[in-house]
Parts: sequence; C-alpha cells; structure tokens
Amino acid sequence: MDYQNDFLPPDGALAVPGGDELVDRINELIELFPHSLATRDWHPENHYSFEENGGKWPKHCLQETRGAEFHPHLYQEKLDFKLKKGFDPEDRSDYSGFSAETEGGKELAKVLREAGAERLFVAGLALDYCVRATALSGLEEGFQVVLLEDCTEPVNGDDGERAIEEIRSGGGEIARSTDLEF
Ligand SMILES: [Zn+2]
Repeated sequence: MDYQNDFLPPDGALAVPGGDELVDRINELIELFPHSLATRDWHPENHYSFEENGGKWPKHCLQETRGAEFHPHLYQEKLDFKLKKGFDPEDRSDYSGFSAETEGGKELAKVLREAGAERLFVAGLALDYCVRATALSGLEEGFQVVLLEDCTEPVNGDDGERAIEEIRSGGGEIARSTDLEF
C-alpha cells in the first residue's frame, strides 16, 4: 500500500516514522508471493484531504510528481498490478485500496476475483489510515485478510494499535512476515 516518496522519511511531505525502513521486508514479500500488487495515492491539487482545501493532511502524492512515485528501490517490475486511488477530488472513501483502479479502470476487488485470490496479505503505509481501511474493506468484500504487522507503520502509534485491534475483531489475522511459510 502507498509505498510512495511522500510517505517516506526523511523528506516526504507526509512522512510516516520508520516507513523508509520497510523496503527490504516489502521487497522480500514481493519475491515470496506468487502474485503481488501495489496501490498508490494519486491526488489532484483540489483533493479534499489537503489542509488548504479544508482537509487533514499536508499536500501529498500529487499526480505526476516525485512524491507520488514509489520508493526508488521497490521491486516494481515484479508487481502484477499497480493501481491508483485518490484521484477523485471528493471521494471520501479513498483511504481504502478497494477504491483503487488499474490504468484500465478495473477496481481492486475485480482484479482479485479475476485472479482467483481468496486471501490478501496487507503491508505498507500507513497502518492507521490506508492499511486499516484496506484490511477492513477486504474483510467486508469477503476476502481473508492477513495484516503483516512488521511490514507497516502508523502515523500515530496509538492509532496503529487501535487499527490492529479493529482488523482482528473484524475477522482479520495478524501475522509477521518472519512467520510466513509456503
Ligand atoms: Zn492521500
């Protein structure tokens, strides 16, 4: 999820503490799993979430900017799909990866169903916002969801703890990447 320059220390516009340290683990996941996909924020200037538009966040992940690009070391070429979200200036459900679409306009749930996926492992940024929303909507969509808690970081530590509890009580599984066996 959203492993993009603007979410990464030291100079991202909305840097998540420790977010930059996940890159090796996330790359290991991409190599480990038979299929992987990535979402990214892709905001227009007039996006509702920006402070200057009355929202909560500094301006981040503007379309066609360096801030919206993936971490430069992310194994992008090994991803099956890359999806964009947050391009609608007023879509307030856009924390969730299930609001993301491929270049061809296909939504995440459809991509997963067409691939025959039953179980979704979630990693990336940020735990208390987009990762949380994606895990919860995955459960609502009927997928098994596993949150890889060592492959995500929250904007706010307490909210991260709460997000983990919400995902667990919603029926999700909490695991660590080091526990994965295939
Ligand atoms: Zn955003």
